Amino acid sequence: MTMRRVGLIGWRGMVGSVLVERMRAEGDLALIQPQFFSTTQTGAAGPEIGRATGPVCDANDVAALSRCEILISCQGGEYTDAIHPKLRASGWNGHWIDAASALRMKDSAVIILDPVNRHVIDAGLAAGARDWIGGNCTVSLMLMAFGGLFRTGLVEWMTTMTYQAASGAGAKQMRELLQQMGRVHAAAAELLDDPASAILDIDRSTTAAMRDGAMPIDHLGQPLAGSLLPWVDRDLGNGYSREEFKAGAEGNKILGRSGAPVPIDGLCVRVGVMRCHSQAVTIKLRKPTPLSEVEKILLAVHPWIRIVPNEREASLARLTPAAVTGTLEIAVGRIRHLAMGQDYLTAFTVGDQLLWGAAEPLRRMLRLLIGR
Ligand code: NAP
Repeated sequence: MTMRRVGLIGWRGMVGSVLVERMRAEGDLALIQPQFFSTTQTGAAGPEIGRATGPVCDANDVAALSRCEILISCQGGEYTDAIHPKLRASGWNGHWIDAASALRMKDSAVIILDPVNRHVIDAGLAAGARDWIGGNCTVSLMLMAFGGLFRTGLVEWMTTMTYQAASGAGAKQMRELLQQMGRVHAAAAELLDDPASAILDIDRSTTAAMRDGAMPIDHLGQPLAGSLLPWVDRDLGNGYSREEFKAGAEGNKILGRSGAPVPIDGLCVRVGVMRCHSQAVTIKLRKPTPLSEVEKILLAVHPWIRIVPNEREASLARLTPAAVTGTLEIAVGRIRHLAMGQDYLTAFTVGDQLLWGAAEPLRRMLRLLIGR
C-alpha cells in the first residue's frame, strides 16, 4: 500500500503540538508520508517524530501544498481564509482537515466529532465532502459530555456557563498567563515569606500588580492571573461573543439538526487555568428523568466518559482541570436535579480542550480517510 502524502500546517502551535504528540503516540505518523509546513520556519527541521521528514516547506506555497493528498491545518482562521480558496481554485481536490473555525459553518464543510456524529461524517463521505473541520473546543467538549441526552431527544433547551483555559487562546497566551502569575507572586513574595505579615497588605500588593499597567498583556489583552475575563473571542455587536454564538450554531450542526435546532445558549468566560475547559450546564429535559437513567444515557455514547459521583471528595479530586489535563477523559459530575423540578438537570463537565476539543477529532478523521 502506498502511503498517503499528508501535509501538516500549524504543528508549532498549541493545537498542532498536541496533535503531533498524539499522532506519535497512536502510531499515525507511521501510516503516512508527512510533510511539515510553516509560515515562518521554511527550510528548518520539522518536529522530532522518530524519522527524517526533510526540511519544513513554506505554508504559503500553494504548489507545494497541492502535492499532498490530505492537508491538516492547525494554523488558524486567517491562514485558512487566505490559502484554502487559492488551493481549491488551483484545482486541488484533496481532503482538508482543519482546527480553525473559518470554514465550519459553510454548507460544504462537515464538523467532525466522530464519537458523537459519525453518522454525519459518513453522510458527508458518501456525498463526496472534502472539507472536515474540527468543532469549537467548548462545543465539542459539551457534546462529548452530553451527546447522549441529545441523541435520545431528551433536551428541550440547554445553557452552558464556561470556565475556559488560557491555552484555548493559543501558545502565546499560555506563556503570558504564567508570566502574569509570576508577576503577581513577585509582588507579594517578601510579605509571603514573613508569616507575621498582614493579609490585607498581601492583597493590596497583588491587586496593585494587576492594576499598575506593567503586567504583560500583549496576547491576553488584560490581566488574567488572579482575575477572569468574561468575554471570549470577538464582540458580535448583539450582546453575544462569537464563542457564545458557536454553542447553538455549531452544536446543532455537529448533531446534524441545524434544520430543527435545540436552543443551546450561555456565557463564555476565560479563567486562569492552564489547560482544560470546564462548563456548568442547565438542561431542561422534555420529561422528568431519574438520575440513574441520565447517567446510563450519558455513558452509552462513547468509552471516554467518566461519571464522577456528586460528592464533595470525589468532585474535588476528579472533576478539575488539574485531574483531567492531558487525558482523554470527559469528566462529568455534580449531576443532580434542580429545585425547579425533576425535568431540570444541572451538571459540571471538564475536558482537555486540546485533545477532544481540538487534536483528537482531526487525527481520527485522518485515520478514517486513510483507512478507506
Ligand atoms: P497558536 O498556538 O497561536 O499557533 C498558531 C501558529 O502560530 C503556529 O502554528 C505557528 O505558526 C505560529 N507561532 C508563532 N509564534 C509561535 C510560538 N512562540 N509558539 C508556537 N507557535 C507560534 O494557535 P492554536 O491555539 O494552536 O490554534 C490554532 C487554531 O486552532 C485556531 O484557529 C484556533 O481557534 C483553533 N483551536 C484552538 C484550540 C485551543 O484549545 N487552543 C482548540 C480548538 C481549536 P508558524 O509555524 O507558521 O510560525
